Amino acid sequence: MRIAQNSAMKATHCRHQTSWQSLKISGLLLLGWLIFSMPVSAANPSSLEPQEALVSVVVVGDIMLGGPPERMMQRGLDPFKHFSQVFKQADIRLGNLECVVSNKGEAEPDKPNVFRVHPRAIRFLSRHFDAVGLANNHSGDYGPVAFADMLKRLRQAGVGFYGGGDNLAQAHQPFIMEKKGVRIAVLGFNEFQPRSFEADHDKPGIAWSEDEQVLRDIAWARGPGRADVVIMVMHWGWEDPLANHRQRQLARLMIDAGADAVIGGHPHLVQDREVYQGKPIFYSLGNFVFEGFDNPVNNTGLVLNLSISKHGVQHWDLMQAHIDKRGVPRLRQHPP
Ligand SMILES: [Zn+2]
Repeated sequence: MRIAQNSAMKATHCRHQTSWQSLKISGLLLLGWLIFSMPVSAANPSSLEPQEALVSVVVVGDIMLGGPPERMMQRGLDPFKHFSQVFKQADIRLGNLECVVSNKGEAEPDKPNVFRVHPRAIRFLSRHFDAVGLANNHSGDYGPVAFADMLKRLRQAGVGFYGGGDNLAQAHQPFIMEKKGVRIAVLGFNEFQPRSFEADHDKPGIAWSEDEQVLRDIAWARGPGRADVVIMVMHWGWEDPLANHRQRQLARLMIDAGADAVIGGHPHLVQDREVYQGKPIFYSLGNFVFEGFDNPVNNTGLVLNLSISKHGVQHWDLMQAHIDKRGVPRLRQHPP
């Protein structure tokens, strides 16, 4: 089976390989890795002290629960079930919710694909996730009324969120969680149209990715008494195995401003990754729960497990999720 994005895995497995042109060349290779890890601590051994607490943060890609996954949930079946052990073993679980969960609102006129799922989905999200990302190009598909209704339901279920809120200020607030004495902030931004989904002073919506604002939000999250570590979750890029110039430029800008990791989504496939200033950038994790794609490249996503200390990301593992015809991910147990 040809899985083009595996090229990026092999290339970045070697820690000196960061040239995206080399990635392009290796894009033709067929690889059968199941789990990949690359210790950042090897690059920066002084940053990891022996007794330092490590928090595991599992991050998955785009979650669109419409179609067959919604029908499964209607029958009480859990579309995340094959990853329940992976989630259970993590300290913090995050994913990008690429649909609105509500029974309210009106579909955006003239938008070709609009995704809304029944509120029963909240129960399945709360079973597996500590927080979900809302900064994307579908969470506003049924307007601010449905978006606000989703926020209310997430809060009631104890599921955090980032990249969205009841107003502009709230949409730019990080989700902050403390585990083992390590305070981790997560910020989310979308830069894929329509911009009309953006929150305003008196309108619920998402956080839009404007460089200056993104940098201000990082500075705020890093402020006194807030977070030790800042994770950026971006919704960006084109459907190409290699990240574009804009993604690379902004990722570096964010790391220069104090971000500890950059994790992207939206291109519906896995993109390459790199290490900049000792900080990892995963340009796109690809899909996680998403039905409707025929190409295997769209039905293979990455599940990222970051090990984080007070001093940042120490190392990480990547697992491969194979998405079946119903849009349901399974952990790839054996190399293809
Ligand atoms: Zn998207």
